[in-house]
Amino acid sequence: MPTKEQEEQPLQDCVLCDTSLPGVLALKTKDICIRCKKPFCTLHTSTFSPRYCNYCLSDITLLQDKFEKVTEHHVRLKDGREELLRVKHSCRHLRLDGPDYVWYVAKVQSVTDDELTLLLEFHRSIVSQLETDSDTRKIRAFQAVYQNPDGRTVVSTRTTQTKKTTETKVTRTPKVKAAPTLEETLRKNNPTLSEKQIQQMLKIMQGA
Ligand SMILES: [Zn+2]
Ligand SMILES: [Zn+2]
Repeated sequence: MPTKEQEEQPLQDCVLCDTSLPGVLALKTKDICIRCKKPFCTLHTSTFSPRYCNYCLSDITLLQDKFEKVTEHHVRLKDGREELLRVKHSCRHLRLDGPDYVWYVAKVQSVTDDELTLLLEFHRSIVSQLETDSDTRKIRAFQAVYQNPDGRTVVSTRTTQTKKTTETKVTRTPKVKAAPTLEETLRKNNPTLSEKQIQQMLKIMQGA
């Protein structure tokens, strides 16, 4: 919802719309970037924050550091012999970098207490939405791989018959536990959302 200050702003041309292209007119907007103080339209809003234009807040990168380590252990077997066991450990460390990220971190440190509370709640809400979106994508990918055209999930169950010590693969289609639906996942991950908000999110995700 636009703030009172934005309501009083006159409509201005977005400075980032490329009017040098034939037939392209700059979109009108009341949004002013709080970094460069210039008007920007919805097409040129930063992906990271709606309060900035995408010229001012876009140069942010995710760096991945991978670490691997092999440890060696001497294990004594039942027959008394010793064996060398090598265990490989690996982990991934993610960190953010980029000039706009560094600038944003410094900027956040200079906000007032009220602005800090607002920013915290805003980003918390965005994180919750991103987690829901991430779960939804994982479920869709799972459904795309494991669902039959008739909508039933194929489950491959490995059963070991202890007496004969053989393995039997059983493929069952009638009695299967269906993968959670999009609606079920949304409700589970967002217990505080109202019924109306759930329905709105469902509509958006299903492209309605
Ligand atoms: Zn624009
Ligand atoms: Zn800007």
